Amino acid sequence: MSDTAPNAGVQANDDASPADGAGKLQPQVYVISGPTAVGKGTIVARLRRLHPEIFVSCSATTRAPRPGETDGLSYYFISNEEFDRLTASGGLLEWASVHGDRYGTPREPVEKALEQGRPVILEIDLQGARQVRTSYPQAVDIFLAPPSWDELVHRLQGRGTETRAQQDRRLVTARDELAAEDEFDHVVVNEDIEATVRKMVDLMRL
Ligand code: 5GP
Repeated sequence: MSDTAPNAGVQANDDASPADGAGKLQPQVYVISGPTAVGKGTIVARLRRLHPEIFVSCSATTRAPRPGETDGLSYYFISNEEFDRLTASGGLLEWASVHGDRYGTPREPVEKALEQGRPVILEIDLQGARQVRTSYPQAVDIFLAPPSWDELVHRLQGRGTETRAQQDRRLVTARDELAAEDEFDHVVVNEDIEATVRKMVDLMRL
């Protein structure tokens, strides 16, 4: 993979020929996935700050807001009934149940951003990433991985936003997600935020 070989820490998966530009024309949709607490939100926020042209999709969720989260910025926090209505009307590009709550990508804002020629980032879970491979086969998906399992546990416990039971549940999911990293076009190990952002900028050719 000529585009990634010089970047230590970026592994291009073997079946990732689309990133050469051979199979995926104009890769404007970027899926960023990875286990809990790996730092997806931080990386995406940095990318957007560096490249304001990027459209970062704001997901809808039935999860309750955490302290510091803002409706319409962090997520659209909606009721189960509203979520049902969105799925029934085809208003979501993809959606999944994660840790007992539902999360989904509102379709219209993404389509609008693509029409405007803006790169789009979807920060979604593994189930969502699989759905996007069907709806946007040209999308490039990137798996953000922790440097080690112990570091992931440390980051999750350190952020202190979940109860012990919620942490355990997230770690069970994280095992499954890590086992699926080979499905992704690229794997980026998030050891250092700045280095990770640079690798992502390279991958996305921003
Ligand atoms: P959190 O509750 O920590 O904000 O997110 C839990 C998980 O839901 C994360 O893996 C996150 O990537 C995922 N997620 C957030 N928004 C969406 C979405 O719109 N669709 C899907 N499939 N997953 C999402």
